[in-house]
Amino acid sequence: MTSEPYLLTPGPLTISMRTKQSMLRDWGSWDVDFNSITGRVRSRLLDIVHGAGTHECVPLQGSGTFGVEAALGTLVPRGGHVLVPQNGAYCQRIARICRILGRQLTTIDYAEDQPVAAADVDRALAADPSITHVALVHCETSTGILNPLQEIARVVAARGRGLIIDAMSSFGALEIDARSVPFDGVIAASGKCLEGPPGMSFVIARRAALERCENNCHSLALDLYDQWVYMQKTTQWRYTPPTHVVAAFDSAIAQYLEEGGLAARGARYAHNCRTLLEGMTRLGLRSFLPAAIQAPIIVTFYAPDHPRYAFKSFYDAVKARGYILYPGKLTTVETFRVGCMGQLGEKGMGGVLEAVAAVLAQMRAGS
Ligand SMILES: *Cc1c(COP(=O)(O)O)cnc(C)c1O
Repeated sequence: MTSEPYLLTPGPLTISMRTKQSMLRDWGSWDVDFNSITGRVRSRLLDIVHGAGTHECVPLQGSGTFGVEAALGTLVPRGGHVLVPQNGAYCQRIARICRILGRQLTTIDYAEDQPVAAADVDRALAADPSITHVALVHCETSTGILNPLQEIARVVAARGRGLIIDAMSSFGALEIDARSVPFDGVIAASGKCLEGPPGMSFVIARRAALERCENNCHSLALDLYDQWVYMQKTTQWRYTPPTHVVAAFDSAIAQYLEEGGLAARGARYAHNCRTLLEGMTRLGLRSFLPAAIQAPIIVTFYAPDHPRYAFKSFYDAVKARGYILYPGKLTTVETFRVGCMGQLGEKGMGGVLEAVAAVLAQMRAGS
C-alpha cells in the first residue's frame, strides 16, 4: 500500500503522475505559451463532441457547479422557463440554481432508481409552450443512473426548445455527438472522466445559441458570453485563470488521446464497473440499480446487512488498505458508492475488491 490512497470518488479522482508533474511550473496568464495551452484545451474538448465549426468551448474558473450555474444563467434568458426532470441530487441542484437565478422552473419528479423518460419530457413540453429549455443530467452521479440522452434530445429538438446537459460525470467516457444530439450547452469539468485535477469547468455551447446570449447573465464572473467574447478577442481568460490546473488538464487530455480517446476511456471504465459489480456480488453486496440503467461511472451499493456495519468504520478500514470510498447520497436507504473512474494503479479494481473483502471478513469475524 502507498501512503497516498486511491480515490474511488467521482472527482476529485486519482490522476496520473505525469498529470501531477505538469503542475510544477508557473505560467503567466498573459503569456502566449499559456494562452496557446488554453487554445489547445478548448479545441480538443470541442473535438470530443465533434463540435468544431458549429460549437464553442468556453472554459470557466471553478468546480463543475460554477459551470452549471454559468450555463443556466447565460443560455437561459431572464424570461426563460426551464424544465428539469429530476431523479437525483444533481438534478435538484439544477432546480435550486434556477430558483436562485429567478428563472421560471417546472420539474418532473422521479424516484432515484427511475431513468427520465423521453415521453414524459415530450408531454410536458406539449402541455406548456412557455418552457424554453430542458436541463438534463446525463449520468446522475448521486446514484450512477444513466438518463437516455439521445431520445430526450430528439424530443426537445422536435419541440423547438433548447437542451442544456449536465454531462459532468459522463463527458469523455460516454458518447455525446453534437452532430446527432442537438443541444445548446453541455457542461463538464476538468476533474472527472478526463482525469485532470479539479478547478476548471467548461461549457460546449452551440455557437448560434451563444451569440444570442449577451446580457442574459445575472452575474459578472459567471457570464459565459462575456468570457467567450473576451477570449475570442484576446486569447486570454477574463480573470485570473487556474494556470496549474489548465496546464495539468492539457496534459491529462493528451494522455486521454494517447490512451485512445473516448472509446478507450469508456471501455476502461466499463471494465472497472463490470469487475466491481461481479466482485461485490461475490462478496454478498447488492447494487442499488439494475444493470440496464447503471452508467459505468459510479456504483451505489446497499450497506452490508450486518449489525456491526457503520459507514465511518468501514470507510476508515478500507482507507487503511489504500482506498477512499464515497458515502451514499440516498435519503431513504443506507448505501455507499464506489467510483469506476481515475487511475487505479497496477491492481486496478481488483485491489479495491481485495480491500473490501478483507474489511468485510474482519467485520463479520467481530474484530
Ligand atoms: C461532479 C458533478 C457536478 C459538479 O459538482 P462540483 O462539486 O461543483 O464539482 C455536477 N453535476 C454532476 C452530475 C456531477 O457529477
